[in-house]
Amino acid sequence: MKTHIVLLGPPGSGKDTQGKILSCKLGIPLISSGEALRTEIENGSEIGLEFEKLIASGALVPDEVMFEFFTTILSRYNLSEGFVLNGFPRTLKQAEFLSGYLKEVDCDINCAIYINVPDTEIIKRICDRLLCGNCGAVYNAYLNPPKNVSICDRCGAPLQRREDDEEQVVLKRLEVYHNETAPLIEFYRLAGVLFEVDGVGDIGSVTQRLLEVIND
Ligand SMILES: [Zn+2]
Repeated sequence: MKTHIVLLGPPGSGKDTQGKILSCKLGIPLISSGEALRTEIENGSEIGLEFEKLIASGALVPDEVMFEFFTTILSRYNLSEGFVLNGFPRTLKQAEFLSGYLKEVDCDINCAIYINVPDTEIIKRICDRLLCGNCGAVYNAYLNPPKNVSICDRCGAPLQRREDDEEQVVLKRLEVYHNETAPLIEFYRLAGVLFEVDGVGDIGSVTQRLLEVIND
């Protein structure tokens, strides 16, 4: 069984959901950069505050700050016992940094899984997201539709499309993603640890495909 796992895949590919499932099934921690960042900001830690300032100013987070953050997070885990990484690394520089960091603690990534979902499918998944402004329920016109078009099942309020999910924004996000991730995929391919999994289908089928790769 491979236990030093990195999940790669576009936004909307189901990485967050699959990461949580794998972590439970394999009994290894899920280290999610997004979640870790939210926790740091909530706790008002030094690195969290620095991030918050950068995000608010719209500036790109410099590599050094990113690396310091990852070091802070990673140092909390006994990495040799395994992990599922989600949301990191996102760029080639980050992958190289991670590789160096892991070498120091005497382990390495042995399974980088690329959850492949075509852009057209991603757009369908993300853009068809409907949000209830009253109770916060989230629907998806394609995957999880409300019983009545544009009415919340739970509270009966009218549903709205999520504003940041408009198609142009998603297309831009996907473009950035592909530009950043292509070299990352190549990096892990060259290291001989890249596995590609078809991310189209229901949650259970995708989990099954992931487990086949991990247990192989
Ligand atoms: Zn509602």
